[in-house]
Amino acid sequence: MKRITHWIDGKAWVGEAERHGKVFDPSTGVQTGEVDFASDAEVDEAVAAATRAFPAWRATSLARRTRALFTIRELLATHMGEIANLVVNEHGKVESDARGEVTRGLEVVEFACGIAQLLKGEFTEGASTGVNVHSLRQPLGVVAGITPFNFPAMVPLWMFPLAIACGNTFVLKPSEKDPSASVFLAELVTEAGIPKGVFNVVNGDSRAVDRILVHPGIAAVSFVGSTAVARHVYETAAREGKRVQALGGAKNHMVVLPDADLRDAAEAAVSAGFGSAGERCMAASVLVAVGGCGDVLVERIKERVGRLKVGPGTDADAEMGPLVTAEHRERVASYLAIGEAEGARIAIDGRDHHIHGDPGGYWLGPCLMDEVSPDMRVYADEIFGPILSLIRVDTLADAMELIARNGYGNGASIFTGDGGAAQRFETEVEAGMIGINVGVPVPVSYYSFGGWNSSLFGDLHVYGPDGVQFYTRGKTVTSRWRNIGTHHASLALPSASSG
Ligand code: NAD
Repeated sequence: MKRITHWIDGKAWVGEAERHGKVFDPSTGVQTGEVDFASDAEVDEAVAAATRAFPAWRATSLARRTRALFTIRELLATHMGEIANLVVNEHGKVESDARGEVTRGLEVVEFACGIAQLLKGEFTEGASTGVNVHSLRQPLGVVAGITPFNFPAMVPLWMFPLAIACGNTFVLKPSEKDPSASVFLAELVTEAGIPKGVFNVVNGDSRAVDRILVHPGIAAVSFVGSTAVARHVYETAAREGKRVQALGGAKNHMVVLPDADLRDAAEAAVSAGFGSAGERCMAASVLVAVGGCGDVLVERIKERVGRLKVGPGTDADAEMGPLVTAEHRERVASYLAIGEAEGARIAIDGRDHHIHGDPGGYWLGPCLMDEVSPDMRVYADEIFGPILSLIRVDTLADAMELIARNGYGNGASIFTGDGGAAQRFETEVEAGMIGINVGVPVPVSYYSFGGWNSSLFGDLHVYGPDGVQFYTRGKTVTSRWRNIGTHHASLALPSASSG
């Protein structure tokens, strides 16, 4: 059985863990690995390594840091297939999707390769007579990242490349369900010549997280996961004086107006609803059919889902894999009964879908629940699986009101041929990432990723320009090199016009 352990101070940890977790292949249900769970002592060991590495790393020139990031980029590209395989084996998503997530992560590294440009400060000559002002952005110190199961490579890559490019050192606590990709990333970072201790991985569960949240040596925490844990992370770490960005769950609405190309919209609903078995925080989970276009959408979705191949990620033709664990599969499937009891109609029942895989896997085919209404649990709860709910409303205003009342605000998209309606939607809708005729509007790496309301606790989004802001703090320097010797004491507050 494969052992998955921590990566601390540039090498695999060699101690004996007190607690362990099991790692499964979701397409067979067979246990493939055992992951060490960090106690407080191991978290402390990783933070100590990162603390030792920080002074030299922050003093390393931008030229060298940039070159190191280019090397990481090359290694990620070279080992893309191996990283994707680790994701397929432990998460269950299909290989094309796993490669897609590594590519998205790689794009953040490419953005981080421009760190010299991104960290440039501002300069003002002659703010007052002989007085210049300039600004600096400096790293925070040791920062931590805590990541979810659903993107075992991409979400860590949203965080640590930019954090270390900014001169910080990093401690990552990946999901215990699929930890191997993070440990492999750490090996690649070490191979790229990044000094030991700059990037560390501690595996574990809530115990490791809770130590990170109160550790006095950690300056900031980036979190991505469910809303309840995001709120806990935000409140605890902020109380400890840390900078925090905590991204939570989602319930993303895809609004379809009757003037949209309905074939295109139905195809997009299938991709956005069932890609990665719906285990994406940007998955479409509510399809909002405006003005009577619901029946056409249902028919088109049924037709496409009928041809959708569900099977293991290693099958090159499979379009959708299993759910991540047996418990999660049961929880997701239970929403079919909950929805029916609440009065929804199961238009497509994924329990009947033909599965091209091992019966021991955690399978559930694509499901469509019709006649869902906003007071139902299937609508209010984040299901995080391949269950798409359909709600019918009369107008675009009704659709936007629904989204505003929902509580989450990660992504929202509109499908329409009407530019005016699209513009109104982007202006008025309550969500952080908007798609116009785009089902999964994940921002490219040079913008930032983040939702609104219960989908994000904190102020700054991840990666892109907000990522640079998050992982640095500003300093403003006011300097005078002329007229030294002419100072006359005055107790009035100096202003630019007084000099
Ligand atoms: P999760 O909240 O269960 O776990 C996330 C991380 O927190 C893991 O590392 C886990 O070990 C840790 N954790 C779990 N319970 C904890 C507790 N009680 N105390 C302290 N730490 C704890 O999330 P998950 O199931 O791994 O991932 C799915 C969730 O993540 C979904 O809700 C999804 O919407 C969300 N997500 C959000 C985004 C986003 O960008 N907003 C992106 C991806 C996933």
